[in-house]
Order: sequence, then C-alpha cells, then structure tokens
Amino acid sequence: MNITRFAPSPTGYIHIGNVRSAIYPYLIAKQSGGKFILRIEDTDRSRYVPGATDLIVETLRWLGLNWDEGIIVGGDHGPYYQSERRDIYHAYARKLIAAGRAYPDNTPPEKINEYRKADNDKKVPYLYRNHRPEAAEKAGTSEAIPWEEGTPLRFKSEPKSYKWHDEVMGDLSTGPEVCDDIILIKADGLPTYNFAHIVDDYEMQVTHIVRGVEYLSSMPNYLNIYEALGIKHPKFVSLPHVLATTGNKKLSKRDGAKSAVDYRNEGVLPEAMLNYLACLGWNDGTEKEIYSMEELLKAFSVDRIQSSGARFDEVKLLWQNGQWIRKIFDEQGVDELYSRTEGFWPEEATNYPEEYRKKVLSIIYDRLKTLSDIKTFTDYFFKDPEIDLEMIENNKFLKKLSETEESDLLGNAIERLSAISDKDWNADNLQAALNKLLEKSGKKPAELFSLIRIALSFAPFSPALHLTAEVLGKNTTLARLNATRSAIVNDLN
Ligand code: GLU
Repeated sequence: MNITRFAPSPTGYIHIGNVRSAIYPYLIAKQSGGKFILRIEDTDRSRYVPGATDLIVETLRWLGLNWDEGIIVGGDHGPYYQSERRDIYHAYARKLIAAGRAYPDNTPPEKINEYRKADNDKKVPYLYRNHRPEAAEKAGTSEAIPWEEGTPLRFKSEPKSYKWHDEVMGDLSTGPEVCDDIILIKADGLPTYNFAHIVDDYEMQVTHIVRGVEYLSSMPNYLNIYEALGIKHPKFVSLPHVLATTGNKKLSKRDGAKSAVDYRNEGVLPEAMLNYLACLGWNDGTEKEIYSMEELLKAFSVDRIQSSGARFDEVKLLWQNGQWIRKIFDEQGVDELYSRTEGFWPEEATNYPEEYRKKVLSIIYDRLKTLSDIKTFTDYFFKDPEIDLEMIENNKFLKKLSETEESDLLGNAIERLSAISDKDWNADNLQAALNKLLEKSGKKPAELFSLIRIALSFAPFSPALHLTAEVLGKNTTLARLNATRSAIVNDLN
C-alpha cells in the first residue's frame, strides 16, 4: 500500500507544471489502495501568500484529486500545516543534538558571505563545513553549547559518497564533496524545507516522495540526515521539468505559464486537464491519448515516466479538451455537458429557456475546443445577426452569383420552407425541403446552402443548415431569410 503526498508551498500561484506533481502521487497511492496526503509547506514565512492555500485546494478539488489525509480533512498524523508542527521538528532536532549531529550557530550572514567570497577567491567550492564554528566541534560532547530559542540550528554533516536509486532517474551517485552543514531550524524557530520534509514524510509514513528534479542536488544532504536520524528513506520519484512551449526553459509564471484555474475559467474541463497533465511525460507505450481517471488508475506506472523534460503544448491541451467535450456529450448526454457550461453563454442566452440552450449545445458541441467557444459560436441563436452583405459578396462559393440570383434563391427558399407547418418543422423535413430546393435551383449545393446559412447566421461557420433552422424555429428562420433578401433587393435598387 503506497502512501504519497502533495506538499506545495503556498507562495501564491500553482502553475500547471506543479499540478502534475499532484497527479502522479495521487495515482501512485490510489492504484495501490493507499493514501494520498495534502501537506502545506509554509515554513518560509517570507514567501507566504495569503489565499494561496485556497487556490491549491480549489485546484485539487476541481481535478478530483481528493486527499485522504491533510489540511481540512484531518488525519492521524496532523497537523498538516508545517507551521503548526514546530514541536515535532524540535523533538527531532533534539535527537540530532544529543547524537552530536546538530549545533547551534549564530554566525551572522555577513560573516558567511565572507567565507563564500574567500573560497571563491581561492577557487575552491564553498562549503560551510570548512568554516565550522566552535559549537560544531563541541557538538555531542559534555561541553556542547546549548541550543537556545532564536538561534539557528545546523546539521553537522558526515561527508560520504552515496549511491541511490531514483524511480525515474535510475541509479544515481555522488561524491562526499556535496554534503554540507545545512540549516535545520531557522532563527524564527521554524524548520527549513530540507529538514521538515524528512521529518514529515517519516511521521506520515510516506512511501514515495514525488517531486521535481530540482531537489536532486540536495539528495546527499538528505541521505546524510536520514542516516543521522536512523530512519529509512522513502522511494524517490523525481519528475523532470515541464518545459515552456518554445526554447529550453522551464515552464514558469514569469514566462506566462497559466494556472490550472485560469484554464478552468477559459472553459477547459477537469477531465481534459487531468488527462493532458498525466500524459505530459508519461505514456503507457500505446498510441492512446484519451484517458479518464479510471483508465489512468489502471494504466499508470512510475517506470514509464520519462526522464527527460516534457514540453507544455497548449494546442494539444485544447485539442484534448475538444475530445473530452465530445466524449462527455456522447457518453453522458447533453444534460451533463450542459451542466458544465454555466457562465460560458452569450449574455442574451439568459432570456432563453434551458431547453433551447441545450438544443443549441447539441448542434455545436462538436466544434468546441473550450467552453468559451460557446460564446463566439452561438451568438446568432440568441439575437438577430447584423446583416453584412459583404460577407455574402466575399464568400468563395457565392462569388459567381448575381444579386438577382441570390434574391431569387432566397425567395424560393422562403416559399418552400413556409410550406412546412409548425408541427412538421424538424430537421428531417427541413433536409428534405432543402434538397428539393437544390434540385429545382440548378445550383451547386455549396452555393445554395452557403447563401442560406449566411442569411441565417452571418457567422463564419455554423452547424448543418437543417439543424440550425430546426433550432432557430420557423418564425426566426423565415424572418431572417426575408430580412437578408430585402437587404439584397435594396442594394440592387
Ligand atoms: N514544498 C515543496 C515545493 O513546493 C515541495 C517539494 C516536495 O514535494 O517535497 O516545491
């Protein structure tokens, strides 16, 4: 049974690359019948942004990544805000002090900068352990300097070579030169990430640490601390960076990376977001591209996470979103898709009954890439379009028709469609009538139908004519054909 955690820092913004670091641990835990934990790593008070945790919660809930233990829901290993776990970290810190593996250190930052500069000048790598204060030497002896509140506590490292296995990156190793005396507890009494996550993952019985590769360089220090505490470390799953769409940089807020919630607000479905992010740097070895959560839980495996950076591709995300819009309509029906569309309709749509909006949705859904497209694609179902004769003139199929021909064609259409009674006004009858009209007209289908389509919508594209006319209804259809015809006739005179 796997226990995993998502452990974000509430620094104000969670871009979609970060969200992938929640999906993978969720899948790893859930496919083993285990637990997924949400822990908030808020010990760096200088980077704390109020409201950031709410955004994290909103994002996870939107995606259906519900946690079994953590903030809000509680659990046996709480509290789940690191800032509330001070006593726990201090207890572990005292164990290290007793073992001679931690020492209080009040060396001022200016002094530390001098050390760094001196090492730089000597062209030797800067390591704090080469400048240890007296307290380090006395650590663990009867003369040990007591640790007092307000004094930072440092780890007393034991430089060693390490070999370890990463589930994504494979077998890794480092030499002793990278182990150093890192800070465990800061002057404000709160731990650093480096210490806190080790304590928490141990206390919370985490089996897999899933996080970005940026933590790999600190691994020797972490392994050193695990050893000093005498605890076993979890498995490591290091995820490669998500790269920006172009260039070789990581996806980042500064370069315009959006948050998951931004995409939600633009009409991306949670299913599509989950699907897209899960497949960003993972595949099951087949060509399959559309996965539901259920399918991901079956197909996902850590050993198929790619070890090279995956590139974020918004075009692909939106394509997948379009696929999901169709899938939901086809498999769950119009009511389900409609229930996702609140806030995405043109303003005038509120004047129309839900049933009408559902009919509109039923004939346009297969063109949508995002729910925001609804606004642009459906305008003319809710208000009469502005007549734009230039659109007719410039249409590639209508170029060869004279205005007289156009007005005659519209006249014939009005006549034939008027003959359909209100109760027979449906797509099948409309299609039959339009085909008859075409036969009689001697025109090409594209000519006749483009003309009527434009007259009804004045939109760059619209669904099949008989469907559009059915939804618009008899009165509106005829009124619009008449209006366009009159405009053409006026233009002629
Ligand atoms: N708080 C860290 C971050 O937001 C999490 C790293 C981890 O998952 O251990 O980057």
